[in-house]
Amino acid sequence: MIPYGRQIIEPDDIQAVVDALTSGWLTTGPCVAAFESAFADAVQVGCAVSLSSGTAALHSAMYAIGVGRGDEVIVPSMTFAATANAVIYQGGTPVFVDVDPKSLLIDVGLAEEKITEHTKAIIAVDYGGQPCDYDQLRSLVKKYNLALVADACHSLGGSYKDTKVGGLADLTAFSFHPVKHITAGEGGMVATNDENLAERIRRFRNHGIATDHHARQKQKTWYYEMTDLGFNYRLTDMQCALAHSQLKKLPLWLNRRRELARAYDRAFAEVATINRLSTHPNVNHAYHLYAVRLALQKFSATRLDIFSELRAKGIGVNVHYIPVHLHPYYQNNYGGKKGDCPVAEQAYEELISLPMHAALTDAELAFVVESLLEIIQ
Ligand SMILES: *Cc1c(COP(=O)(O)O)cnc(C)c1O
Repeated sequence: MIPYGRQIIEPDDIQAVVDALTSGWLTTGPCVAAFESAFADAVQVGCAVSLSSGTAALHSAMYAIGVGRGDEVIVPSMTFAATANAVIYQGGTPVFVDVDPKSLLIDVGLAEEKITEHTKAIIAVDYGGQPCDYDQLRSLVKKYNLALVADACHSLGGSYKDTKVGGLADLTAFSFHPVKHITAGEGGMVATNDENLAERIRRFRNHGIATDHHARQKQKTWYYEMTDLGFNYRLTDMQCALAHSQLKKLPLWLNRRRELARAYDRAFAEVATINRLSTHPNVNHAYHLYAVRLALQKFSATRLDIFSELRAKGIGVNVHYIPVHLHPYYQNNYGGKKGDCPVAEQAYEELISLPMHAALTDAELAFVVESLLEIIQ
């Protein structure tokens, strides 16, 4: 099976984990600080705080900006459920907004219509790896005095105009799940230029305790205070060692993803039944996904037929995403229903994600293209 996404683990990655295992530390040790510092440099921000998953990163971001009961947070429906779930973990209410049909990024005009006196923040999702329109988003949050959080689980290494993803919102969440750009097995990060928000997240990931064990050791005391209700959201030393080793290869892997995207773009440029998503000229796309929209009205086959035939050929296509407001949990508890976000709903019917990862070979890409064209022609 050619998967839609997968990790690359090389001998230096393995050695890095072995070194961490034999160093005497297993959890919060020197690899955590080293990885956080290298990551902050890579995305050009002041602070990076590691967490046990991208979901924990989003949850921590909601905590840091003070989302609580009665607060609304605007979330695009075309995303993974974790983006909206993070709002609910803090007692807030996600308010779903539709996306632009060409890029599948948050429709900033519609987002403005969703703002009420209860709105606390907007979460922008860089769908597929393309940064949203952060100029528009920043002027909107400024006008209404809201927080801007980026779910950049798809867009590590991307940039908007001259700014890297990480420094475009108040807080930016990343994931190190194996299908993402770099992996820690499981893991996440929040990047920010606000030291106060970073400090809140460091406390939140450590049970809401203000000092960590290093600080207590230095102060020669057992005393600590739990000041807030936090969680154990720490990333281990072994995981940070792996992710740090992976981070060194990010530029190389991004180049490969972009090369593959150009090859798909060329292959589908003249195909009237495959609608490629649009890329804005002022962004550097990170291509977590290569998703296309099938012009289904021009086929007798359904998307399920096409999906199944590709899977039968050993091509691990996928669909990103079922609009979050249509999941049973959101229908039952938040009144989500068909028609709430018509663009996302229509896109969902037509979307298919083709294999996109740095280990994909030219021959595999050619086989994917040939198979898809054969099925739809
Ligand atoms: C992967 C992902 C997450 C969650 O990250 P985990 O590390 O799996 O918890 C959240 N949002 C989006 C858009 C993602 O793709």
